[in-house]
Amino acid sequence: MIRTRFAPSPTGFLHIGGARTALFSWAFARHHGGQFILRIEDTDIARSTPEAVQAILDGMAWLDLNHDEGPFYQTKRLYRYKEVIEQMLANGQAYQCYCSPEELDEMREAQRVRGEKPRYDGRWRPEAGKTLPVPPSGVQPVVRFKNPTDGTVAWKDLVKGVIEFANAELDDLIIARGDGTPTYNFCVVVDDLDMQISHVIRGDDHVNNTPRQINILKALGATVPQYAHLSMILGDDGTKLSKRHGAVSVMQYSDEGYLPEAVINYLARLGWSHGDAELFSREQFVQWFDLDHITPSAAQFNTEKLRWLNQQYIKAADDARLAGLTRPFLVRNGADPDKGPDLAAVCALVKERAATIEELAAAATLFYRTLHPTPELLAQHVTLEVLPALAELAERFAALTWERSAISAAFKETLAAHGLKMPKLAMPVRVLVTGEPQTPAIDATLELIGQEQVVARLQAGLQAAQT
Ligand code: GLU
Repeated sequence: MIRTRFAPSPTGFLHIGGARTALFSWAFARHHGGQFILRIEDTDIARSTPEAVQAILDGMAWLDLNHDEGPFYQTKRLYRYKEVIEQMLANGQAYQCYCSPEELDEMREAQRVRGEKPRYDGRWRPEAGKTLPVPPSGVQPVVRFKNPTDGTVAWKDLVKGVIEFANAELDDLIIARGDGTPTYNFCVVVDDLDMQISHVIRGDDHVNNTPRQINILKALGATVPQYAHLSMILGDDGTKLSKRHGAVSVMQYSDEGYLPEAVINYLARLGWSHGDAELFSREQFVQWFDLDHITPSAAQFNTEKLRWLNQQYIKAADDARLAGLTRPFLVRNGADPDKGPDLAAVCALVKERAATIEELAAAATLFYRTLHPTPELLAQHVTLEVLPALAELAERFAALTWERSAISAAFKETLAAHGLKMPKLAMPVRVLVTGEPQTPAIDATLELIGQEQVVARLQAGLQAAQT
C-alpha cells in the first residue's frame, strides 16, 4: 500500500516549493491508488501560528489536493512522542545527557582548537564498562538517541540515487529537550512510523536529516520508508526562489488571477517531465506521474511560462466560470458588474488576450464603468471633419436590429457615403462610447454595450462637440 504525506511546518504561507512537494506526494498516492496524508508539524510553538495553518489548508483546498487522512497535528500527539522516548530510554536506545549549553560550547571550542570537527563527545553515553559522571542536581537532562558509532547509513534515494553517511559523522541526536518536549527529527520519525508512510517525498533541504531518521526508525524496528528528495526551485534569475522573485505564496497566485489548474500544470513541470508534454490536465498528470522522471537538478521558475499556461486555461475555461472569477476584480476596479452587459459574454470577448483574470478584468472594465474621455482624446478623434459621418452612424444605429453583423454593415455604409477609412470613424466611436481609445473589435464591443447606451452616448458626444 502506497502511503505518502505532506508535512508542512505552519510558519508562513503555502509557498511554491511546498505546493510542489504536496502535489508530487498527492499525485504519487493517487497514481497508485494509495493514501495521501496531511500532517501539520506545529511543535515549534514559537514559530507556528493558526493563521499559517489556515493558509496551508486554504492553499491545499484551492489547488484541490485532497487528503485521505488528517490533518494530524503534532501538538496533539505529544503523549505519543513521550511514550516512545520512555520506551527508548527503558531499553537503552536513548539516554539522558546533563551537559549544559555552556559545557557544550566549551566542548566545541576545545575541538575547534584541536582542529577537530565540533560534535557531541558522548560523555553521558552509557557504554559497557564505562562509569558515567554523577548527574548534577537541579539540571533537567535532555534525551539523546544512541546512534550507531560505526558503519554507514545509506538509502537509495528515488530522485538522487544512493546516498550514504558514515555513522561516525552523526552526533547522538537530542530527541527530547530539557523540558521534555520532543525535537523535530524525532516527531517526524514517530509520525512516519505510526502513519505507516511508504514514501517520503520532500525537499532536499532534509537530506541531512534522513540518516538520523533512518537510524531511529531502525532502532524502533520500523520498515524504513523509501525517500525521494526533490531539488530546490530557483527563481527566474537562477538564484534560490524567494520573495524577491515576486509571488511565492500559492494564494497570491489566486489573488493575481491564476487558475488553480494552471498552477497545478505549472508545478507539475517543475522538476518532472513526460516527454515534451507541457499542457495537460490533472487527471493526465496523475496517470503519468512517477518518481523516475523527476530530475535531480534544480528546477527553474519561469513566470512567462506560467502566464502562458494560465492563458491557455483561461481561453479554454467556461465563460460563466470566468465571469464569477472576474467579478471581484471588477468591483476592485471600481466597476459595477451588474450595470452593463452580461459578464460571461464580455469574458468570452476579451479572454483571448488575457493571461490572468486580473488582465481579463482590466479588459472588461470598460463595459461597466462610465468612462469620461479626456479632452485630449476628444480633440484628437472627434474632429469637425468626422462629425457628419458620426451623426449619420448614430442615426443608422438607432434604426438597426442590434447585432454584430448589422453594426458592421452600418459602419461600412457610412464610411462609403463619406469617403472615410475605418479608423477615422471607429476611433471617435470608441472614445465616445467607452472613453478608451482601445477596445476589443468595435462591432462586438458595441453589440455588448447595447443599442440604447451606444446611441445615447454617441448623441451626447455629438451634441457636446457641436456646442
Ligand atoms: N516540516 C518539514 C518542512 O516543512 C517537512 C518535514 C518532512 O517532510 O519530513 O520542511
